[in-house]
Amino acid sequence: MINDTWERRSSITTIYERKWEIKAKDILDFLPKTNCSECGLLTCFAFAMALVKGQKHLTDCSALSKPEFVQDQEALARLLQTGA
Ligand code: SF4
Repeated sequence: MINDTWERRSSITTIYERKWEIKAKDILDFLPKTNCSECGLLTCFAFAMALVKGQKHLTDCSALSKPEFVQDQEALARLLQTGA
């Protein structure tokens, strides 16, 4: 399959659009899940939904800046930037 794709490479059109959507559940996995509401939303899931819609930013969750969540914050940044 790889060789076939390579042979056809000149006729393949590159698509730069993201082929998958980031799901709120994927984001929720990295949030503190304390539902503290400091971001202005009632739950971390609501915050995840707002992140997906571009209505909130990672910096709106003050809990993510705590040392114990630094790795989660970095993972979320990668997820939101690349979708991976
Ligand atoms: S500030 Fe962060 S931890 Fe608190 S509810 Fe919002 S997303 Fe959850």
